[in-house]
Amino acid sequence: MELVIDNLSKTYPNGTQALNNVSLRIAPGMFGLLGPNGAGKSSLMRTISTLQEADAGTIRLGDLNVLEQPEQVRQVLGYLPQEFGVYPKVTANELLEHFAVLKGVSNKGERRQVVDALLHQTNLWEARNKNLGGYSGGMKQRFGIAQALLGNPKLIIVDEPTAGLDPTERNRFHNLLAEIGEDRIVILSTHIVSDVSDLCRQFAIINKGRVLYTGDPLVAIEEM
Ligand code: ADP
Ligand code: ADP
Repeated sequence: MELVIDNLSKTYPNGTQALNNVSLRIAPGMFGLLGPNGAGKSSLMRTISTLQEADAGTIRLGDLNVLEQPEQVRQVLGYLPQEFGVYPKVTANELLEHFAVLKGVSNKGERRQVVDALLHQTNLWEARNKNLGGYSGGMKQRFGIAQALLGNPKLIIVDEPTAGLDPTERNRFHNLLAEIGEDRIVILSTHIVSDVSDLCRQFAIINKGRVLYTGDPLVAIEEM
């Protein structure tokens, strides 16, 4: 399944043009969206995630028309927003349980299995009964990935996930992303070049709402 974006444009009511004729073709695996602050990354991520509308253009995810079928898209989408807030006074275990119920995993045994697997996968098993308010930045981000993975989505969008992380946590987070990017589309928005060069075999550089370059980061580095 591919994500195909064609001529997407978006101008905010105050006149800022955040997206200017953006076209991208994204295959399964990790896709890096690289650009400085204000480039339009969040605007693009929010539009793909059906959280905001575009003025023009189309987005297709497999057979789905993303802008016209937001409900169906949300069923196959996991989204980790840039400013990811956690409820401080519940545990990871409790909150994942809760979200699993919302996702429709109504069978208790099955839910236990799904939640336990995610806690292990994101390395939060030991800390599962701690309140999220006591988590480090890296742990919160990994919790965000666990939450985004509920329902086994075909498309995962992570917006600037490594920005506040120290090198050890960033490394751990990279490993987790590489693992979840094996069998689905993962779009990683970042202004950090090594996020892209370490993890992605496809990427785009975006600035001032325009796509400046698309390709394979290893090839791009050789060409520079
Ligand atoms: P990035 O995620 O790359 O930092 P954004 O998509 O957040 O870029 O922003 C792109 C441009 O659009 C910036 O100039 C930003 O200030 C502007 N912008 C973002 N959101 C809004 C909004 N809701 N209203 C007006 N301007 C916005
Ligand atoms: P980013 O770091 O991705 O550019 P911001 O921190 O600029 O994101 O944006 C955070 C929130 O503020 C978003 O909901 C965005 O839509 C909004 N926003 C950003 N820039 C503007 C702006 N110039 N006018 C109004 N809202 C904005």
